[in-house]
Amino acid sequence: MAGGFSPQLLEEIRSRVDLVDLVGQFVNLKRAGENWKALCPFHAEKTPSFMVNPKKGIFHCFGCGVGGDAFGFLMRQDRLAFPEAVRALAERAGVALPAERRSDADGQRETLLKTMALAAEFYQDALWNRPEGEGARRYLEKRGIAGEMARRFALGYAPEGWDHLLAFMKGRAISEEQLVQVGLVLPRQAGSGFYDRFRGRLLFPIRDIQGRVVAFGGRAMGTEEPKYLNSPETPLYVKGQTLYALDLAKPQIREKNRALIVEGYVDCLMAHQHGFTEAVAALGTAFTPAQLALLRRLCDEVITFFDADAAGQKATQRAEELLEPAGEGLAWALNRTGSFRDAAGLRLKVALLPAGHDPDTFLRSDGAQAFAERIDAARSLLAYAVDAALAEENAASTRGRATAFARVALILSKVTSAAEATELARAAALRLGVDPTQLWIEAQRLQGALLKPAHPSQASGSPSPTVPAVERDLLALLVQNADARAALLPVLDEEDLTHPAFRAILAAMKTVPAESPEVLMSHLPGEAERGLLAALLVEERVWPEPGPLIAEYLKRSEIRRRTREIRLVTQDIAQAQAAGDPALPRLEAQLRDLQRQAQELRELATTESRRSMTDG
Ligand SMILES: [Zn+2]
Repeated sequence: MAGGFSPQLLEEIRSRVDLVDLVGQFVNLKRAGENWKALCPFHAEKTPSFMVNPKKGIFHCFGCGVGGDAFGFLMRQDRLAFPEAVRALAERAGVALPAERRSDADGQRETLLKTMALAAEFYQDALWNRPEGEGARRYLEKRGIAGEMARRFALGYAPEGWDHLLAFMKGRAISEEQLVQVGLVLPRQAGSGFYDRFRGRLLFPIRDIQGRVVAFGGRAMGTEEPKYLNSPETPLYVKGQTLYALDLAKPQIREKNRALIVEGYVDCLMAHQHGFTEAVAALGTAFTPAQLALLRRLCDEVITFFDADAAGQKATQRAEELLEPAGEGLAWALNRTGSFRDAAGLRLKVALLPAGHDPDTFLRSDGAQAFAERIDAARSLLAYAVDAALAEENAASTRGRATAFARVALILSKVTSAAEATELARAAALRLGVDPTQLWIEAQRLQGALLKPAHPSQASGSPSPTVPAVERDLLALLVQNADARAALLPVLDEEDLTHPAFRAILAAMKTVPAESPEVLMSHLPGEAERGLLAALLVEERVWPEPGPLIAEYLKRSEIRRRTREIRLVTQDIAQAQAAGDPALPRLEAQLRDLQRQAQELRELATTESRRSMTDG
């Protein structure tokens, strides 16, 4: 996990970063004793279960179980790799990083990012400075894309031909394997060798939130198929996790407290060109909960655009996508006004454009003022979904009304906030000719059925239901009490524990027994381990008299050690018996001795058996 950085260096950075300051940039923290509290930025919730402890430099959410230190927070918040988070925080803390401290994996990622940056330069040069770029330059003009915008978005041109990029990269000592890895070239199907993926296309670099190129979208300028050719998924680029132009739009999204989501690259460029610099593109027909999660940290309102003809159908589709609980602890749900389940959530709205228009064509034909008016008139996404459900069923027939009733109830059921009965629900009931309470009761019934499986562990406060309580108690004692560490670390070993994350924490503690447990964060390999450690660190359990407890654990550990020895000797005896080994009587005597010692120890172990660790 240290990623090539020394523990001392990481500790220095960690100690200089004020975690309340850092986290406070993204969430609204309130003091609660020694900790600071907020609504969790990583899962939807109504009451704060996200804790920051500035003294220990760790955060933990009791709702979804995530936790860690400043590095872990930034990795999650900005989707950074560990070394990237280290670099960002080192800069913030004013700590100089030795350039060579870098693991293979980080070096690899850096190389891939450098390859993409070089490619972007090559394509930009081809667009602006080469005769081959003439057609692309004329195309931009025809589409009304200002040169200044094209440069701001770093547009490029991939020349016609099979190996222009290959030849350029050869001169830069970038290998063909690296180019394949980032999806810029493909192996030839017949024979050996490679060829450029992008040929004769206008290229839109897709950048991550830090502004680094991770993929390209290539648009045909004539009638070639496909119209759009995009980078495949690569180690740098995962579809559905990135928003086009978020790096450029981020400050304005914060400032205006809203984001506009459009579908295509050109829509996005045109929005920026007309002053709507809070626009991003979803890079696909659907937007994903992961993309909304990115926006949720920056603003309260997201507006998407539908063509009037398709609005109902699209709204239904989107609502269904977004109402489904998604994985990774992001159990998104929209409430009846189209906002997320928690009060500080995201309002999701739809702005209608005239039939046949997208933001690009509408901005060019009607201008910024008309576009702004459409945005002002935006309605909740869910309202459209309910409208569509009502419109699609034949309200004149009993059967149609029953189906519409069920569909609307289902939409409403995925909403957890029952605080205010909205116009939406009332209007739907009115149009269905039913009593609003009837609709409401049905929605609540469905909601009860839907919500149970989605939140199995939310109320329990434990990070995971599978963590054995006895092991948790032992680890809590170790993490929170220095005397316990001094006494128990030398005698405990990983086999004493069954839970893999606890084993990893114990192993890390044993490698640096003298360090305080906060430091272990950078020694732990994975998210789950760091989350558990953070949970134990924020717990603030008081151990008024740890002495007897430590003694008890020592005894238990001793018993387990003997039990293991007995098992080994028993195995030896069985083998000796089978082989007619003359050592048999000696082994049997040894076994009796061990059994007697174990019995004595058991009699000494008086504490209730509930506290005992697993017998191994
Ligand atoms: Zn959480």
